Amino acid sequence: MSGPPKKREQHRTFPGEQEISRFELLRVLDGDDAWLRELEESIFCQCPAASKRLIAYRVFVNDLHDVVMRGLCSGCNTIAARYVDTGEDPEKVKRIKAVLKERKGR
Ligand SMILES: [Zn+2]
Repeated sequence: MSGPPKKREQHRTFPGEQEISRFELLRVLDGDDAWLRELEESIFCQCPAASKRLIAYRVFVNDLHDVVMRGLCSGCNTIAARYVDTGEDPEKVKRIKAVLKERKGR
């Protein structure tokens, strides 16, 4: 019997994605760090760990202005990610654009 498909060991990034910092993500979320913690704790991973969170992650914004957080699952130390549909919220898109614009100016 063959086991489940092997999980990738490396994250892929996609064309059009731009990295932002965790601090900048917090700004996109309007400083709501409780929400950020909730995002970190609501990752999908099939490992049996009772509590898991996204650790050692990097944050990317794609060309739909959605946020992708990529890192490791604290329960099993394999890759895990959290996608946030920020592109659906005009207020967040506005803040994402401001963050990206400032990065470009640096
Ligand atoms: Zn896990």
